[in-house]
Amino acid sequence: MKIDLDVKLSEIIPKQNIIKNEIMSRHTTFRTGGPADYFVKVGTKEALSKLIKLFHEEGLTFSKDYYILGNGSNLLVSDEGYRGIILSLEGEFAEVVPESDTVIRAGAAALNVAVANLARDKELKGFEFAHGIPGSIGGALVMNAGAYGGEMKQVVRSVTAIMEDGTEKIFSRDELEFDYRTSVFKRINCVITDALIELEKGNRADIEALMEDLKNRRVSKQPLEYPSAGSTFKRPEGYFAGKLIEDAGLKGYSVGGAQVSEKHSGFVINTGDATSDDVYKLICDVRKKVMESFGVELSPEVILLGEFKA
Ligand SMILES: Cc1cc2nc3c(=O)[nH]c(=O)nc-3n(C[C@H](O)[C@H](O)[C@H](O)COP(=O)(O)OP(=O)(O)OC[C@H]3O[C@@H](n4cnc5c(N)ncnc54)[C@H](O)[C@@H]3O)c2cc1C
Repeated sequence: MKIDLDVKLSEIIPKQNIIKNEIMSRHTTFRTGGPADYFVKVGTKEALSKLIKLFHEEGLTFSKDYYILGNGSNLLVSDEGYRGIILSLEGEFAEVVPESDTVIRAGAAALNVAVANLARDKELKGFEFAHGIPGSIGGALVMNAGAYGGEMKQVVRSVTAIMEDGTEKIFSRDELEFDYRTSVFKRINCVITDALIELEKGNRADIEALMEDLKNRRVSKQPLEYPSAGSTFKRPEGYFAGKLIEDAGLKGYSVGGAQVSEKHSGFVINTGDATSDDVYKLICDVRKKVMESFGVELSPEVILLGEFKA
């Protein structure tokens, strides 16, 4: 890295929020991943803008030199870690407040469950689907997270982000390019700061009943007792990833501590001592076997960060 980061970062961020060599297994739901050179907690928009502007001026680039962490629930970080700066949003970015009768303003670091709970308390329906998705609003927007017929696409009115040059931009609904597990934010590098979530009037009992029903469905079908990143692969058109994997004879297949879940073949789980390398090798094996067996290409939904060797 070209600049004296210790000095430059501490001009913007309190020293206790700049951590060196932070082990990423603490921040991913897979519970794997090596050290990030810098792990920086950012609590205000002012500090975030200054940081991004600094990175821009110093020629640091998104992904290669710095990366935004949400709740780490869709991320596989290499065992060698990340040779750059991980930004973790907190403070004002975790706020969730009513904006009007039917609109909630949610910070990017707010967890989906916090937004779903406020919606329930305000008797607003339409966000129940996200109650059990264990990520942040930022991550949900990038991924167009969805479940049980609901997805972010249906409820987002606008998204505010800091662009790579440090300026702020508001993305209207039409600019978000939401599609199956993707959005404009997979194409354009920026840091999402908050979003307006637009819901409909409902009633508390129905909202609670739906949340409970979806929770029970998850608990009965998904291996929630093990660390994972949820569905490892995207749904290939016309198929279900889990069914293909099972039909290829891979249910329970393992590499080191990583295993194709016995409960749900679409999930790769960490049975206790998995490394990211185990998970990655297992993903490669599964893709190869499914391609050989059925000629279907499985694309990972999980995002890889850092170096991986095939
Ligand atoms: C048990 C389990 C169940 C799951 N069930 C579902 C499900 O039903 N449906 C579903 O869609 N997913 C599901 N997932 C996957 C995961 O929870 C979602 O993809 C979630 O939206 C990821 O959010 P996150 O905050 O954890 O993002 P992360 O994993 O931290 O990051 C994901 C991507 O978003 C980017 N990002 C995060 N915040 C920002 C920001 N502020 N600005 C710019 N970029 C940002 C990151 O850089 C990264 O590229 C599940 C995961 C688990 C572990």
